[in-house]
Amino acid sequence: MGIATINPATGELLRTFEPLTDLEIDQYLERAHQAFQQYRWLSLSQRAIWMHKAGDILEQQAESLGKIITLEMGKPLRGAIAEAQKSASVCHYYADNGAEFLADTPVATDASQSFVRYQPLGPILAVMPWNFPFWQVFRFAAPALMAGNVGLLKHASNVPQCALKIAEIFQEAGFPEGVFQTLLIGSDKVAQVITDARIKAGTLTGSEPAGVSFASLAGKYLKKVVLELGGSDPFIVLDSADLPLAIETAVTARMLNNGQSCIAAKRFILADSIADQFEQQLADKFAALKVGDPMNLDTDVGPLATPDILQDLDMQVQACIVKGATVLTGSHPPDRPGNFYPPTILTRIPPGTPADQEEFFGPVALIFRVKSLDEAITLANGTSFGLGASAWTTNPQEQDRLMSELEAGAVFINGMVKSDPRLPFGGIKHSGYGRELSIQGMHEFLNIKTVWIK
Ligand code: NAP
Repeated sequence: MGIATINPATGELLRTFEPLTDLEIDQYLERAHQAFQQYRWLSLSQRAIWMHKAGDILEQQAESLGKIITLEMGKPLRGAIAEAQKSASVCHYYADNGAEFLADTPVATDASQSFVRYQPLGPILAVMPWNFPFWQVFRFAAPALMAGNVGLLKHASNVPQCALKIAEIFQEAGFPEGVFQTLLIGSDKVAQVITDARIKAGTLTGSEPAGVSFASLAGKYLKKVVLELGGSDPFIVLDSADLPLAIETAVTARMLNNGQSCIAAKRFILADSIADQFEQQLADKFAALKVGDPMNLDTDVGPLATPDILQDLDMQVQACIVKGATVLTGSHPPDRPGNFYPPTILTRIPPGTPADQEEFFGPVALIFRVKSLDEAITLANGTSFGLGASAWTTNPQEQDRLMSELEAGAVFINGMVKSDPRLPFGGIKHSGYGRELSIQGMHEFLNIKTVWIK
């Protein structure tokens, strides 16, 4: 299937879209290139007015935007509305803080005056995933546009209406033509765009193979890239943890977005002493979740975004079971239309299954038991990923070791991993490189220029 809206809850093909022709792609790139020549010199206060306006539109239209999100990728409507609102918050955050983040930074040297000046790079290509189809885009676009760059969005092929709507929002907010454009293209055209001389840098959020392909090409053409890739985040619970809170949080941390979040807790690493109680209560809570139509406001878990994701997830689960994993709840797709998968818990998973190294992108919790903190840290660090990590203990020495020794771009102690405009976000190892959000995210796509005056 090319670029299309297919309702994940029913499988119904609702709308198809023609991809841009090569001539049209060239026109979009030229428009971006031309727009940058003027836009880069506009005042920050002007850009902030437009960015606040984009935030206002997102807030005012959160409900209708939420419906488009849910229709195209299946997350429960409550979460989709919250996503539109969170996207508004990142617009306001950079509109409010952009001037401070971009101000010249004085540095005392042998010069009479020396400082760092921050300048935009030009048109940036953003290749984005469907799982947070608004949030992922706005967290790239808000800092990039505030800094004077211009954006071109190649969104995932299953969320074209979200992609078009986002470009409309920037236009309605007042940004000049060409400052933010959606390119309706398949992934086969990404190489053509990222290698074009008019594109100065790129960012990709998605799977590891897509990241490798994108970064290789960008590297060949010496273009800066930020990569936000997959994760298999650990959620470590030790003896002293507040167990009821940890279990309650575990449900949200695993089930948010129907389990399709890069920073979802995926591997639950439990101290032996609390493991039985944790497992039993988690299984009760998973079994009580309401799976169904994502348009209903009381639905907890909707369908997965595509049939392929459902199939891949089920293959991973069945491979674990065949090797001897115990099923506490779930594990078989129900016999109904749509891409539904039940909340599932696997425990006593022997080594040598996909749970060791692969990302499970859906509502499946993988439980492991450990006898010591050392064992917990070794297991947590034992994958090729390094995105986030959540650890639960009230012991300060344990907390200290966890925040230092966990190999991840973020460690949350006694809380679930989440993104926040005020904090940098990104991974290490095969989870990618570079950062989004906060001042660090804004500085990724800038010429950090040294100025020295005798
Ligand atoms: P995906 O298949 O890699 O798709 C993501 C985007 O990349 C889409 O726009 C896709 O376009 C495009 N794409 C696919 N293959 C490409 C290639 N070879 N070259 C250039 N572009 C390519 O990812 P997904 O499976 O839909 O998304 C889920 C993944 O994203 C998970 O691994 C998740 O953990 C990760 N993710 C990471 C973060 C983070 O911040 N670290 C956030 C959200 C999601 P088409 O749709 O046209 O194929």
